[in-house]
Amino acid sequence: MELADDIESLKGVGPKKAQQLHGLGIFRLFDLLTHFPRAYEDQSRITPIGQLQAGEDAVVTGVIAGVQEKRAGRRGMLILTALVSDGTGFLQLTWFNQKFLKQKLKTGRRVFAAGRTAYAYGGQGQLAMNRITSFEIIDDDEAAPEAKCGILPVYSAAENIRQGFLRSLTEQLLRLADEGRLEVPEVMPESLRRQYGLLPRLQALRSIHYPESLQLADEARYSLAFEELYLIQYGLLLLKKRTQEQRQGIGFGVNGRLTEQALSGLPFRLTGDQQKVWRDICRDMERAVPMRRLVQGDVGSGKTVIAMLALVKAVESGFQGALMAPTEILARQHFESFCGFLAPLGIRVDLLSGRLTKKQKQELYDRLAAHEVDIVIGTHALIQQEVAFANLGLVVTDEQHRFGISQRAVLERKGRLVPDVLVMTATPIPRTLTLTVYGDLEVSTIRQLPPGRRPVRTFVRGRERRELIYKFVLEEIKKGRQAYVVCPLIEMNGDSGLTSAQEVYDELTGGIFYGIHCGLVHGRLKQKEKEELMQRFYEGEVRLLVATTVIEVGVNVPNASIMVVENAQRFGLAQLHQLRGRVGRGEYASYCIFVAEESTETARKRMAVLESTADGFVLAEEDLKLRGPGQFFGSMQHGLPDLKIADVGQDIDILLKARRAAMEAVESGEGMAEVLAALQLQYREQFFNITEN
Ligand code: ADP
Ligand code: MG
Repeated sequence: MELADDIESLKGVGPKKAQQLHGLGIFRLFDLLTHFPRAYEDQSRITPIGQLQAGEDAVVTGVIAGVQEKRAGRRGMLILTALVSDGTGFLQLTWFNQKFLKQKLKTGRRVFAAGRTAYAYGGQGQLAMNRITSFEIIDDDEAAPEAKCGILPVYSAAENIRQGFLRSLTEQLLRLADEGRLEVPEVMPESLRRQYGLLPRLQALRSIHYPESLQLADEARYSLAFEELYLIQYGLLLLKKRTQEQRQGIGFGVNGRLTEQALSGLPFRLTGDQQKVWRDICRDMERAVPMRRLVQGDVGSGKTVIAMLALVKAVESGFQGALMAPTEILARQHFESFCGFLAPLGIRVDLLSGRLTKKQKQELYDRLAAHEVDIVIGTHALIQQEVAFANLGLVVTDEQHRFGISQRAVLERKGRLVPDVLVMTATPIPRTLTLTVYGDLEVSTIRQLPPGRRPVRTFVRGRERRELIYKFVLEEIKKGRQAYVVCPLIEMNGDSGLTSAQEVYDELTGGIFYGIHCGLVHGRLKQKEKEELMQRFYEGEVRLLVATTVIEVGVNVPNASIMVVENAQRFGLAQLHQLRGRVGRGEYASYCIFVAEESTETARKRMAVLESTADGFVLAEEDLKLRGPGQFFGSMQHGLPDLKIADVGQDIDILLKARRAAMEAVESGEGMAEVLAALQLQYREQFFNITEN
């Protein structure tokens, strides 16, 4: 058997179970093997109930003092509760939809339970265990639970999949590997493993699922995290090496009249940071090695201007340029501003829009192939097969995190020579993390905002102020401005949070905004409907736009001067900051009001940071510190390799070591086949389209 085999090849997994496992992202044996425990249950350590704290994983034993049965929700979900006591306190155990337990839960029986504690709902400080990972009735004649011992994995499970079932599957899988019936190939060369003190792969995998001690679990985690980061670094470094050494890049000429004309035609002077980035880019472009540069800078810091100059520079040397934007609207906006500026210079700019008819598209393709267009702007439609360039020299992608690494690579392959690549992102990433995410790119940063920018005035307010807030919004609209109201996606019962945006929309249009043209835009609308609505907002017809975060990416509506974010505590700071960047783009005084329930200390702190700084990098670093990288990346994961075990915030040491190890290996060429096979297994075509040679 191989790791790529279907999960159904395991005993006990039929089509129905397989489908439930798919819900957890488990399709192949590999996915199960890397479905790492989220915690452990140390059955040798029983905590007296009186000493439990909310929010910990614990193992307890006690006697049932009472049982309750309820039905709740639309579908009449069965809720069973048992109150358990061990003489030091009471703990409420709760199960959802586990009918078979009804017979077993009897007052007076002794039980053993493990799981995550929390405050009981409406229970005034009473502790409950809601996520129960192990539960047993201990009959009188059975050995005391203290004798059980052992450390068991606790997996992220789902409604229909119990811990016990997942445990039986991982046990089965590891047994197959031990018996040699399942092949688990080594990924790292032995020399590197020894150098960095890593366990053999199978041993690490065994210990991460069933460790003999928590310390061994830690060691296994170290080895596996190292391996995971090593793989990504290897992939990125190999990509870089391939493009830089094996393929011919373009050496653009030094800046001539056209570029100088563009530069001096700007209605402003470049800021110091912009000048520095521009110099970086010119140097890169003039070398024959393909440029791979990331420009990161806050919304409005002036990245697009720099990208435009770079495109002019490419055109001046007789090449074509492409600018890929994440949405149609953004592409259109770039197109309009570029045209106004570049047409007088005699540069031919065109837009590959989704709205073109088939015939118009074909005509554009023909013009591109005949070099009758110098710069083309579009969405990912640019990477379609029909699009061929006469002489592509520079590819700019805007808002990189929306595109996968491989999408970028497709566009790069469209040139005769390897085109230069410039990536722009407004999602500030803490410096230490850029290596993991953009390990194949050089990074330039713009921190300075252009002078004279009016800062967006930011307020964090409690829900009780909503009425006043919306009155204020109404006044601004009556003055001629436009407003955004953003609602989070709430993931409850698979519900995408549509209700909350819908609710707010209904509340506002039926109330204080009655008679004002409002729009509602969310992720369930078709792309086209979304774009249309955004266009009507852009044109000023829609005055107030209620939206989910679909508006997050760079739309520019200068007349929109006010934004309200509902349930702001549910967003990451970086994301809130990104949202805030949607206002303050025109000449008007702008406001951003975060309506938040600051229920915890952390939430309060996070929100306060927003009021105090407008620097996206400071915010990103704060966010990372306060929430940890899991959630930080959770809110902006698009286009990033998904990490299964490494934690890029905390494992920065491992990351640096893994990068060093990967550099050595890429240089020597050692273990390449193994790495490529492993990358293919984990990421498939998603990020690394690399073949041997
Ligand atoms: P970004 O792409 O980083 O969001 P843009 O390049 O779109 O930023 O610039 C935002 C606005 O600021 C644009 O209207 C642009 O013309 C203006 N701008 C850019 N650089 C400067 C500068 N150095 N001085 C004044 N205004 C600038
Ligand atoms: Mg931009």
